Amino acid sequence: MYDLIIVGAGTAGLSAAIYGVRAGKCVLLLEEKVYGGQIISASAVENYPGIRHISGYEFAEELHRQATELGAELKYEKVREIRKHSGFMTVKTGRGAYDCRAVILATGAKNRQLQVEREKELTGAGVSYCATCDGAFCKGKNAAVVGGGNTALEDAVFLSGYCQKVYLIHRRKEFRGEERLIQTLRGKENVELMLESQVVRLNGERHLESVVVRNDRTGKERELSVTALFIAIGQVPDNRAFADLVSLDAYGYIEAGEDCRTSSEGIFAAGDCRTKTVRQLATAAADGAAAAVAACSYIQ
Ligand code: NAP
Repeated sequence: MYDLIIVGAGTAGLSAAIYGVRAGKCVLLLEEKVYGGQIISASAVENYPGIRHISGYEFAEELHRQATELGAELKYEKVREIRKHSGFMTVKTGRGAYDCRAVILATGAKNRQLQVEREKELTGAGVSYCATCDGAFCKGKNAAVVGGGNTALEDAVFLSGYCQKVYLIHRRKEFRGEERLIQTLRGKENVELMLESQVVRLNGERHLESVVVRNDRTGKERELSVTALFIAIGQVPDNRAFADLVSLDAYGYIEAGEDCRTSSEGIFAAGDCRTKTVRQLATAAADGAAAAVAACSYIQ
């Protein structure tokens, strides 16, 4: 019997694990893929209080080391179901079933798809959702980034150091991300900002060769010769496995307040998977702490 099972080993989940084990609880983290969550693919983190500069990978490494050295157990298993019994719960994965007294859902969110034809087919063959992972393949070549948030802006800054030319395509007149990043991009000779524009076609036989971009104001289409398209248009949650157990909002996020309590007693939600206005590294870590404290007090 575990005291606490945490579903998801991203920033929120690992932070919750640190608080859980430090409160003397027996903690199991269940992660479907790799620990670290979304931050693992960020080239640089410069807005986490107290750390001036760190790569996303290093940040995730440190967090993982801290949680596991303190005693949290981590298993790579996908959670399929949670069953409630009187006074405890069973978390079922593809490989086993684990009993616990409280659960923290820290499932994060997944990359949103652009929904352009051939996107799936060319993923891994020029289409990517992670500039940090795949940027090096574009050395000396042309690449495009789509999106207007911090991820897209940071990706474009990062790629401008590798690529001959970077096109940043955004559907609005203005970017949504930080002004500091926009100014950095405006100062780069090899970056072209394409506003009020959308990617409408992907060309290439086995590998991406070009993208067609339509300017929504003029209606004109332009073909860009690129070997990579980085899609950075935000995230969507995937909480379907828990839909019968906890209330979700219209977008699929788990309804929970600042105390991370869900509609279901003993189940807490932390980080990007829950309803909230600010989804940042700092707020994910803060949620992990709040959820673990609430879960520990529930257990007691
Ligand atoms: P985001 O802020 O939600 O931005 C997503 C962007 O993609 C928006 O500009 C949106 O356009 C655009 N978009 C959405 N759907 C689209 C579609 N179907 N076609 C074309 N464009 C589409 O996502 P994010 O940049 O991944 O950032 C997520 C959160 O993480 C944010 O809070 C961000 O500040 C944070 N973040 C922080 C850092 C950092 O601080 N170092 C780094 C990365 C991310 P609209 O503007 O029209 O909605």
